[in-house]
Amino acid sequence: MEEIDIIKPDDWHVHFRDNEILKAVVPETTRHFRRSIVMPNLLPPIINAEQALNYKKEIENAIPQSDNFEPFMTIYLTENINKDELKFAFDEKAVFAAKLYPAGATTNSDSGVKDISKIMTTLETMAKIGMPLLIHGEVTDKKIDVFDRERVFIDEKLDNICKKFPELKITLEHITTKDAVDYVNDGNKNLAASITPHHLALNRNALFVGGIRPHNYCLPILKREIHRKSLLKAAISGNKKFFLGTDTAPHLKIDKENACGCAGIFNATYCLAILAQIFDNEKSIDKLENFVSKNGAFHYNLGLNKEKIKLRKIQEKVVFRRYVNVGNDKIKIFEPDFPIYWRVDNY
Ligand SMILES: [Zn+2]
Repeated sequence: MEEIDIIKPDDWHVHFRDNEILKAVVPETTRHFRRSIVMPNLLPPIINAEQALNYKKEIENAIPQSDNFEPFMTIYLTENINKDELKFAFDEKAVFAAKLYPAGATTNSDSGVKDISKIMTTLETMAKIGMPLLIHGEVTDKKIDVFDRERVFIDEKLDNICKKFPELKITLEHITTKDAVDYVNDGNKNLAASITPHHLALNRNALFVGGIRPHNYCLPILKREIHRKSLLKAAISGNKKFFLGTDTAPHLKIDKENACGCAGIFNATYCLAILAQIFDNEKSIDKLENFVSKNGAFHYNLGLNKEKIKLRKIQEKVVFRRYVNVGNDKIKIFEPDFPIYWRVDNY
């Protein structure tokens, strides 16, 4: 038997949704993670301090007593966002960062930004006050192939933002391509990237194994093996520019197994066990703590967590719970297509 103790991890990208789904999924994250950045793409989106604080309260009410967890709230950038309100929300510590969704890029992103030139003065304010910018880095032009949208976003949008605002702290979220890894590696010190467990575990073949697999559908979409390998190399490198953001994104089973299935993979429950297995398979378990517990905190200028967790490798394959129940429906828990022998102790 093998075991390791690591600093309690943080998840720098989660979707908790709201109401019944929120109540069901919050404990799946707070069980293993100490802090998370919470996405603002509700309907309607979170666009001011008051909404962010109300949402934070709803999350806090769903945290089990046994868990010590802190949600970091975000504001949804729109073309009409009020800069003073944004600054107020940040100064009052109601929010930690702002999220840029290109309009139509993913779930509930219709109020997102169509023309980035319209938010340049907002980005300037953010750079000045030290507010991080979180980016869903995909163009939404229907003429651009869905597998190329991240690369084109980097070339046509991100490069311009990075050059104009080298002091702006930017996270290119849930990166999926070698192009993104290379760009972030070569980019300025304020540019970093988060990576999800599912993009480390699967390539795009997983969407079509013996039939269409709606539970492996997410945005940005899974890519070719060459890209997965590049993400893996970045994750296990220990390089401070790459850290965990799970993008755990619950949808009800009925909305996934549907003629127009929603994008998003719910991975919170076994995320750490899966990552431990992936790092172990690469003989890099010693780099797991950097990826899940340290690099993100460094990027956001936060202290490291004081608590620790224990990960244990067992003889028998771990048997996963398959669903989280929500009322009469349920949410499918992400399970990769390889065996997992790691588990977080006591759970
Ligand atoms: Zn997301």
